[in-house]
Amino acid sequence: MKTRATNNTTREVVNFLKGPIRVAITTHVGADGDAIGSAAALIYLVRSLGGEAVFCHAEEVPNYLRWLLPDKPLKECPLGHDLLVVDTSRADRIGAPGDHPVRLNLDHHEDNPLYGEMNLVDKGAAASAQIVAALYAEAGVPLHRKAAEAIYTGVSTDTGGFRFRNVSPTAHELVADLLRAGVVPAEVDYQINRTGTVEQLNIVGVSLANAERYGEALISTVGKGDYDRTGATELDSKESIDRLRTVSGVEVVGHLREIEGGTKASLRSESVDVGEIARRFGGGGHRLAAGYTTPKTPQEAKEELLKALEGALNLKDTSFGGA
Ligand code: AMP
Ligand code: MN
Ligand code: MN
Repeated sequence: MKTRATNNTTREVVNFLKGPIRVAITTHVGADGDAIGSAAALIYLVRSLGGEAVFCHAEEVPNYLRWLLPDKPLKECPLGHDLLVVDTSRADRIGAPGDHPVRLNLDHHEDNPLYGEMNLVDKGAAASAQIVAALYAEAGVPLHRKAAEAIYTGVSTDTGGFRFRNVSPTAHELVADLLRAGVVPAEVDYQINRTGTVEQLNIVGVSLANAERYGEALISTVGKGDYDRTGATELDSKESIDRLRTVSGVEVVGHLREIEGGTKASLRSESVDVGEIARRFGGGGHRLAAGYTTPKTPQEAKEELLKALEGALNLKDTSFGGA
């Protein structure tokens, strides 16, 4: 794959999108609201410009996001289509098999090494969907309701419902435009947050109950026994991480979930560069929201994580911050 460590402009990307193109659009493994939202909005944009676009991903698209896509997702990306990748920090995180060259890498992760032939990486964007919205503006394509809902889903989920530090005036101005295009926030919220299962609810409850405090760190581990007890899967526990961020005096929150052959970790912080810590374990992400996968058990992964946090946090004293 030819890589060129430069960023492109929205103008250059729009010029490409305006050409007679056939594209396959995909996103990262473990797709989230921004992954599917930005992919769906990009499909609608390519089609508005007269091109052909399909969505492909090896994994099942979660039900709470499936409604955003215009067609049934393909399990493999068809040959003869240019591959466009959204919201994916590294080439090895792409959720579609095969080694098609990446024609466009559109993303907002700080650690994105610009792995595409064209790259549109804006670290200041709250969500990849915000970058797709900038392409609509550059191309002069008006936002219709379906595209606006997809962009709204990306921005609202990646900002934790407009609460995280990546929220900006630009993000809110965009949301005003999305609402004018027909988005009803309560309806999107219903699809995203109120279409879950009791298994999901129970595994989130178990995640909260399993939380342990180590001074300025709070870590919750979820093991096989927890999945057996609740009938839930690892994916079902995804939203737990944000519910764990409520304890006064805690600077870093970790959610460690047992998976086949190891543990998946999510880290969140208000102050510590957890992206840097995740990279030490072969993962990555944003400064304040990151993750990694390790071959260790959740208990071992917890020990290892606490060791990595030692330099940055006080892990002993729990007498401050109302603990
Ligand atoms: P998560 O905790 O899964 O919501 O992920 C938080 C952030 O970390 C996202 O921006 C992901 O792209 C990134 N991330 C999670 N897991 C990994 C990983 N194994 N490798 C690289 N980045 C990751
Ligand atoms: Mn994402
Ligand atoms: Mn994102």
